Formats: sequence, C-alpha cells, structure tokens
Amino acid sequence: MNIKDVNFGILGMARSGLAAAYKIKELGGHPFISEKKPEKDIDDPHKIRADFDCEFGGHSDRLLDCDIIIISPGIPLDIPILIRAKEKKIKLISEIEFGYLIKHPESKIIAITGSNGKSTTVSLIHHILQTAGFNSILAGNIGTAFTSCKIEKAGIDVIVLELSSFQLELINKFRPDVAVILNITPDHLDRYNSMEEYALTKFNIFKNQKEDNLAILNYNDEYCKKFDKKISAVKKYFSLDFITDIFYNGNSIIFGDNIISIQRSSIKGPHNTANIMASILAVSPFKIRNEIIEKALSSFVSLPHRLEPVAIINGIKFINDSKATNTDSVKYALQSFEEPIRIIMGGAGKGEDYSVLNPYLKKHAKKIYLIGDARYKMKKAFENIVDIELFDDFEKSIIAAFSEAEKGDSIVLSPACTSYDMFNNFEERGNKFKQIVLGLGK
Ligand code: ADP
Repeated sequence: MNIKDVNFGILGMARSGLAAAYKIKELGGHPFISEKKPEKDIDDPHKIRADFDCEFGGHSDRLLDCDIIIISPGIPLDIPILIRAKEKKIKLISEIEFGYLIKHPESKIIAITGSNGKSTTVSLIHHILQTAGFNSILAGNIGTAFTSCKIEKAGIDVIVLELSSFQLELINKFRPDVAVILNITPDHLDRYNSMEEYALTKFNIFKNQKEDNLAILNYNDEYCKKFDKKISAVKKYFSLDFITDIFYNGNSIIFGDNIISIQRSSIKGPHNTANIMASILAVSPFKIRNEIIEKALSSFVSLPHRLEPVAIINGIKFINDSKATNTDSVKYALQSFEEPIRIIMGGAGKGEDYSVLNPYLKKHAKKIYLIGDARYKMKKAFENIVDIELFDDFEKSIIAAFSEAEKGDSIVLSPACTSYDMFNNFEERGNKFKQIVLGLGK
C-alpha cells in the first residue's frame, strides 16, 4: 500500500497507535493523533506534540477529515465520533490491518489467537523458527507493536503475531499464511454480548484466508468446531483427547509419520502439550526437522507469571500464575499440581461464572484466599466447596497462606481476574507476589 500523502487519524495513543503514527510519518503519510486522556496524564506530551499533529482530552471533528482512522484495541466501536466516521464512510482499521497492508509481500505471517496460551505459543513458535535458522520476529499483543518493526523491508522470513479479540475486530484484508485458534473459553464477557459474539470475533483471524493458507484449531473446543465451516483455508486440528492431525499418545507427539518427544520440553502440563501441538502444526509449512523441534522445546525459556516457580520456603512451594486472568487458565493451573494447594484468587472480574471451578477446587485446593473487588462474588460461587477467607490486603493473604501451610503444600497465585483494581497490570501483581514471597524467606 502506498500511503504517501494519505491522512490517517490515530484514535487512542496506546503503544500500537503511537507505533503506527511513527510508521506513517516515516513512509510519507500524515498522522493525526486524537487521545481522550488529558495532557497531564500523557507521558512526555511535549515530544508527542513536537513529533505529530495531535489533540488531547477528547476527539474533535478534525478526525472526520481523515481518509483512514486507525483505532486502538479496547476503544468501543460505538462511541459518537466513530458512529459519525462510519456515516461518512471513513475506513476504520486496526493497527494490525495497517501493518498487514504495508508489510513486505514476501514475509509470511503466523497469527495466533485464543483465550489462553497465546503468549506462550507465539514465543515457542518464534523460538522454534529461530532455532531452525529462520529470521523470525515476534509482535502484536505480546508487547512489541506490529508496526514498530521494520516490516516494510525485505528480509524477515516470518512475522509471528499474537492477536487479541480486540485486535481482530477491525480486520479487512488481513490474511495470515497460518492462523491458529488455541481455544475459546469465557473471557472479556464484559465487552461482548455473548460467547458466540466473542468466538466469531476470534474467527475473523480466518476471514480472508484462501485454500493455500493453513488454519489450525483445537478439536476439544466447542466453538472451534461450531464455526469451522466458515473457513476456506486447509484445516488442521490438534487435540489432547482425540486422534486428530496431530495428537499426544502419552509419551510423544504424533504428526503424520513424525514422532516428536516432549520428555525434555521445558514447559509442562496438559495445557502446554496443547500449545506445543499447535506450535508444531504452525511451523509445519517450514519443514523443520524433528530433532530441531525437540532441541527448541528443551531450550525454550518459559515466560514469567505463567505457573512460574518462585521459591521453596520451609518445604512450601510458591508459584506465581498472575497471568491467569480467567477461569479456564485457573482450571489448568489446578490440574497441574499433584500436591494440595492453597490458592490466592480475586482481583477485578470480567463477568465470568466462577462456579465452573468448583469441581477442580474441591479436588485440588486446601483453602482459597480471596482478594480484590471480585472477592464477594467469588465467595458466593465457592461457598461450601472448600475453606475460604477474605482479605482486603494482598500481602496479608500471602502471609496467612504461609502461616497456615504445611510442608509439602504449594501456595499458588492464580487469580481468575485482572489486576486492575489493585495494580497497573498482571506483571506488577506477579512481581509484587514474588517480592513478598522472597521477603518471607529472609
Ligand atoms: P495469553 O497470552 O493467551 O494470556 P499465556 O501464555 O500468557 O496466554 O498464559 C495465560 C495463562 O493461561 C497462564 O496462567 C497459563 O498457565 C495459562 N495457559 C497457557 N496455555 C493455556 C492453554 N492452552 N489453555 C488454558 N490455559 C493456558
């Protein structure tokens, strides 16, 4: 796409919006940034003003003079300025769509979405590709904005993109060579009217794919099967329980004639076996030898805040699973332990029914320590299942769990909620947990 002299509106100055603005400028287009937050809440507003045409504290009609508006993920699409932009037939796109339009045509895209496991899976795919000698880059929801990379230049073999449902809301031409849906389980139900609506937003990842593309889905997932007729690409399924295109036989992963051992894999648990199968399917067009994949599986450094071991104090293990922000990820966390666990849960809720966890809590949890805004709703959902205590302070909940724990117990922070009621993000919550735990050891 030639963007020279095209007028772009950037609605919302999140990391991806700013990256797009710089890219537009670099390529000769005209970006105009419009941000709802007042200037006093912006980091380094002088630099933004020096670099761009912009407005803070609200969205003026100036946006309606643009040819295209790039909308930051998370901004509702029914705010007044966007309703008027739609009436004026202004093109509304996401930063992901913009990146796709300007990327070098020879760079392949592997795009991954799902309710859980995205960051782990994209990181693993990227690592397998790099271990095999490909020039791969990792971008999207995982942290580095797609358009902050030199994607318009030749030389990148593969762009591995993590995509949230928000980023898939405004997809127009975006056509990944390989697209993956890991799973669709309740999440963000505060943004979508129903599970169907949430699932169909995720299915946008396949929307423009053709017969020469690859679509990868989870055979265990109700919604993956429900909507798969919509897909034009070649479909491949993975499953933890059924014999599908790729499957796990209890020892190794079987994919056609290939037997790939996961004994030495650095990531464990059934959810990670599913993530590994999806990753092997995703790199299958690149014809990587089994030994290289096995080598990459053992050298992969797992991400922090996902069932991350923190310390063992007086025979009590502490695990940080701060990234578990919905019930499905907590369900897998609970199933990953053989020993009894004391689980710290709560935070800001997302409209989920927590009682789906009851059978797993009953089987694996000794006691639940509840924190944050969701603690009363959670208490109701878990009542009579297992011992529960409420706390108005994060540190107190950890100290209480430690003082009650016996040798051999594990204390797991796996909240099933976002952190926004008490922290800026899940990383801050996980780091605080680690800091408090390490303090207990002194
Ligand atoms: P995402 O980027 O989709 O949030 P992560 O890889 O960061 O996924 O993992 C988020 C949480 O979900 C962690 O608690 C992790 O242990 C758990 N998890 C990882 N993979 C899966 C999976 N395939 N199914 C369910 N939970 C998973």
